[in-house]
Amino acid sequence: MSIAFDAKGEGLAIGIDLGTTYSCVGVWQHGRVEIIANDQGNRTTPSYVAFTNNGRLIGDAAKNQVSMNPINTVFDAKRLIGRKFSDASVRNDMKLWPFKVRGVGDKPMIMVNYNNVEKKFAAEEISSMVLIKMREIAEAYIGSVVKNAVVTVPAHFNDLQRQATKNAGVIAGMNVMRIINEPTAAAIAYGLDKKGSTVGGKNVLIFDFGGGTFDVSLLKIEEGVFEVKATAGDTHLGGEDFDNRMLDHFVQEFKRKHEKDISNNPKALRRLRTSCERAKRTLSSTAQTTIEIDSLFEGTDFYTTITRARFEELNMDHFTKCMEPVEKCLRDAKMDKSIIHDVVLVGGSTRIPKVQQLLQDFFNGKELCKSINPDEAVAYGAAVQAAILGGEGDIDKVQDLLLLDVTPLSLGIENFKGQMKVVVPRNTTIPTKKLRLFTTVESAQTCIKFPVYEGERTIAKENRLLGTFKLKGIGIAEKGVPEVYVCFEIDANGILIVSAEEKSTGKKSKITLTNNCKRMLCNEEIKKMVKEAEKYKSEDEENKKKLEAKLVLFDYAYNMKDTVSNLSKLNRADKKKIVDAVAKTIRWLDENENRLAECEEYKDKMTKLENICIPIFTEMYKGAS
Ligand code: AMP
Repeated sequence: MSIAFDAKGEGLAIGIDLGTTYSCVGVWQHGRVEIIANDQGNRTTPSYVAFTNNGRLIGDAAKNQVSMNPINTVFDAKRLIGRKFSDASVRNDMKLWPFKVRGVGDKPMIMVNYNNVEKKFAAEEISSMVLIKMREIAEAYIGSVVKNAVVTVPAHFNDLQRQATKNAGVIAGMNVMRIINEPTAAAIAYGLDKKGSTVGGKNVLIFDFGGGTFDVSLLKIEEGVFEVKATAGDTHLGGEDFDNRMLDHFVQEFKRKHEKDISNNPKALRRLRTSCERAKRTLSSTAQTTIEIDSLFEGTDFYTTITRARFEELNMDHFTKCMEPVEKCLRDAKMDKSIIHDVVLVGGSTRIPKVQQLLQDFFNGKELCKSINPDEAVAYGAAVQAAILGGEGDIDKVQDLLLLDVTPLSLGIENFKGQMKVVVPRNTTIPTKKLRLFTTVESAQTCIKFPVYEGERTIAKENRLLGTFKLKGIGIAEKGVPEVYVCFEIDANGILIVSAEEKSTGKKSKITLTNNCKRMLCNEEIKKMVKEAEKYKSEDEENKKKLEAKLVLFDYAYNMKDTVSNLSKLNRADKKKIVDAVAKTIRWLDENENRLAECEEYKDKMTKLENICIPIFTEMYKGAS
């Protein structure tokens, strides 16, 4: 496989698992992968961005304030990226999100209030903010600037979703060396763990079930070569769907018990959702758990219990749905389940006992492989791939690893009968280049339109339209005579370029499929977003300084308040002066609690307060000595 980018001399490259609910970053250093903990000490970081009047928050800080600020806290950007506003899945998700999404053209835009101004963000921009956070986590650990990264996507992401993820990297000011599939990355983690025992080849099924997506991939791993044989899955099924089911269940229960409907109250819903996620996790290790939320809605408390059996019943259709891609994957790879050596669990949702049981039953009781960390395996594999592409550091152990990934869906052109003419069948190893001959359907036809689709249906319109392009200037000829070769080229990132070339008269013309600008960001928009991302970053830094100045003033004022109240040596007049000045400062801080003032304002208040307090204390100590 060709290496698309040579990043030698540019410092260490990192691997980022950009998840729907959580993200994780790793780096190859000193001959091994280090999964990097964030500033809170957590090895995974919520993929959350919050907009407040005191600035922007990303990761744990954003998730921790979500119930106070539900409509301006954005998550699930991965469920929007590369999708159309009119997609059914977007419409359904919107009903559950507390933040607003509006269609601009057919592109979904997230609406928030930031510093009292209504702002709209593309999913790529929100993802870029999460990527920036992950890069900062890595930079703090490595101690130097990070320029290059490998980013993972679900195997089932289509061309537009991959391209949009790459654009998120560009907006974040990062060079995305390669986009790799999440289950393939996890397979690298598994393969390195099992190195030596893959002699003679091992067939490994990666069952990757995360917060928002589900992927199954079947790989043959043999002496450092990771060859994906088939992949299948669902880009819209994951842990959040189970949280939603539980949420619905409790909204109904609350209605029944208290005759109150919380479904239009984002704050109450958010608090309940957070408790549901926690309960779901607990139910993976216990048979029953409780939900206790004080004053959930209009002063009414909500105390209830849920059993694992009830949770399973609520989600049984989701769980059984997971087995279909497993079957499809085996069928596509033409393998019987009996020749699978290992079934590897990846992603937080694989901790659910029912999911494990169904999978184990499917493989006739085979022990499932739980030796790799389900939350970190994807970032681990991405970090290995980043090290290979970056070529920095001690990479002897991994430099010969070879990844042979596949296209998840068939790609083709709609012919004049409306049928899908497949050019690249699904599960074709990438990178790949395939040619297919087309011709005119009318005499003297000088232009052919090529609608490019992705999917498995024979009627083209039932698949997903990726874009349309035309080849003009075809030589005048009888119908069926001109020979037009259409070339589909997929790079190692799984990103597609389609071109057409007419051969009949020896005259050539070539057209490259460009992204549909209405849904995908065009270069101009990306450039604008890059600038804005830089602006937000410097605003974050500015806000940090303001917050520090605020805290210094806050601490000083309260310190003075305490000190004065405990001092008996101070005369009454001086004491009153300090008490009044401190009270005035605290009142000002309270009035401005919900906004950050300029650094100068804090410093000014601080100087005024000091100018009152310091001379009095100096006099007092002079008198005392
Ligand atoms: P990932 O995308 O792999 O980080 O997976 C995150 C998803 O896994 C979230 O929906 C979590 O709620 C879910 N998850 C994490 N731990 C558990 C657990 N112990 N039981 C059930 N689901 C879990």
